[in-house]
Amino acid sequence: MMGNTYIKSKASILLIYTGGTIGMIENHETGALESFNFQHLKDNMPELKKLGYAVSTYQFDPPVDSSDMGPDGWKKIVEIISANYHLYDGFVVLHGTDTMSYTASALSFMLENLGKPVILTGSQLPIGVLRTDGKENLITAIEIAAAQENGVPIVPEVCIFFESTLLMGNRTRKINADNFNAFRSYNYPALATAGVHIRYDVQQIYRPVLPKPLRVHYEMDRNIAILKIFPGMSSQVIESILTIPGLKGVVMETFGSGNAPRKEWFLKMLKEAVDRGIVIVNITQCVGGSVEMHRYDTGKQLLEAGVVSGYDSTTESAVTKLMYLFGQGMSTEEVKEHLSCSLIGEVTIPDK
Ligand code: ASP
Repeated sequence: MMGNTYIKSKASILLIYTGGTIGMIENHETGALESFNFQHLKDNMPELKKLGYAVSTYQFDPPVDSSDMGPDGWKKIVEIISANYHLYDGFVVLHGTDTMSYTASALSFMLENLGKPVILTGSQLPIGVLRTDGKENLITAIEIAAAQENGVPIVPEVCIFFESTLLMGNRTRKINADNFNAFRSYNYPALATAGVHIRYDVQQIYRPVLPKPLRVHYEMDRNIAILKIFPGMSSQVIESILTIPGLKGVVMETFGSGNAPRKEWFLKMLKEAVDRGIVIVNITQCVGGSVEMHRYDTGKQLLEAGVVSGYDSTTESAVTKLMYLFGQGMSTEEVKEHLSCSLIGEVTIPDK
């Protein structure tokens, strides 16, 4: 753990408001929460001015509920960060919690050689509500984005900060629709914990050995599907997914350490899809742990059908990694090669 951290007195932070509960307001007629002008956030948070940093803001117009986020929204965030990269010490992205883990995962691939903090946060209650969790999340996210040691950012990564914990973005998942403590990273330790002090676990933070210029990628291929296996699943369901025209990659969520039914028709369909050039990645439905296809016969059969391991990836990370790899124009074989290694800490590959 790191003891003292030094924050430049006038660190400059770009706050990008994409939408989400944090900046929402209640519609008095319908009672529903609707996105509101960013001014609403600033009016309700005079603390922003008191922070002592040079905080500039950029607002999505219109702000989007994160259910509507996807490759176009990710591209927009990447464009804003890229255009302002040299002007700011760090970036805070305010985002709805529902798909925040997808966005964090996508950004980690799209912002290659990132050397500055990109901290995503949001809230479960709007910032104008008395019991809001938004203020603390936002203020601490800004502090983390501004934190430097010897002039070097402490966390040059895409992360999610939520309710006292800083997590590697592409390892997270939203696990609770109500609790303030809404995100977890089951397969990777927290990067920092915010109590009285913000304590960074520097061993876990990814830092490039040789800093390289930021390289941004915009193309994300949408020809990806998720296939969640369940007991009693009919062949029509599997077939209808695997025969989607143009399909390139499938994230298959299996049981336990990567197991699926041993039915002949099922394995045949998977093998036929693999033979057509579709990449099928096996990840577990469990919240923690890794796929080990050699462990049980059921897993071995998937290997024989040509399914590849997604190890301990989250669904969010596996989906966006496939979108990114195919978006680079890679061949099936190249995509498979890249799936068997960690690009930016998104997966733990066991020693051979
Ligand atoms: N539906 C909202 C969103 O994801 C919920 C939130 O902001 O937490 O945009």
